[in-house]
Amino acid sequence: MATTTNSSCTVSSFKNAIALITGANKGIGFETARQLGKQGIIVLIGARDKIRGEEGVKKLKEEKINAKYILIDVTNEESIKQAAEQTQKEYGKLDILINNAAIHLEGEPPSKTSMDKLRQTFETNFFGVFAVTRAFIPLLQKSTIGGGRIVNVSSQLASFGNNLADRNKLAYSTSKVALNMMTYQFAKEFANNKSTIKINSVDPGSTQTDMTGNNPKFGPIEAAAEPIVYFATLPSDGPSGQFFDKQKQVHAW
Ligand code: NDP
Repeated sequence: MATTTNSSCTVSSFKNAIALITGANKGIGFETARQLGKQGIIVLIGARDKIRGEEGVKKLKEEKINAKYILIDVTNEESIKQAAEQTQKEYGKLDILINNAAIHLEGEPPSKTSMDKLRQTFETNFFGVFAVTRAFIPLLQKSTIGGGRIVNVSSQLASFGNNLADRNKLAYSTSKVALNMMTYQFAKEFANNKSTIKINSVDPGSTQTDMTGNNPKFGPIEAAAEPIVYFATLPSDGPSGQFFDKQKQVHAW
């Protein structure tokens, strides 16, 4: 277990890198795109809705960020395939993939959670991430920054070590636990293949977004995006296969 901070790392080599962020039309995904864009990274704003995606791009362009909308519904394999083909055609590579899109549907106790809700949640938060990651690995292998970077946006609710009292989130929590193990499994494969791709899970911390009903007790999106950006722009000697738990400020399993 190693302590980490969010201090900025060397990112000069990431200038003009290409980053795809899923669910980037709002919330933490949008802010992550904004912070990456501010570093000179070209950001592909992944969104399942054209109007919402293009609105996000417009806002980023007003800040002189090089942003482009890309249609991607993580539950639709055809849209993932087309997004990968489009990225290959237009850029020939991908440097950074942020698997951010997720849903959180329930608040009821586990015994009242429907199979449908559980399946729907896993469809987006786990299977969706897997499908996107698998489709974009060939492009990440062509990264020109010395190795692609993947960040899976996770949650502190994926850890036994955190205070889960009064939280009825069976589907959401288990989907993020499974996501973390996916991170670990891909990291092992990359290490075994001597691939320079790094993959990590990052908890952005409780944040004021639509997902949390913009709860004023929670933190701002700016702070949530910071650890995601940090892991997206790791130097070549940075970690892989870790779960960054924001509450504890550690890489932890
Ligand atoms: P929001 O609900 O604000 O945003 C979620 C984004 O995901 C939206 O852009 C949404 O698109 C998109 N999305 C959902 N389903 C799909 C899909 N099938 N295909 C493509 N995009 C999709 O959530 P947050 O910004 O709060 O969450 C971002 C990430 O942070 C998530 O992974 C979440 O689990 C994680 N997280 C959030 C915390 C918080 O306190 N907010 C705490 C810990 C983790 P659309 O607008 O079309 O619905």
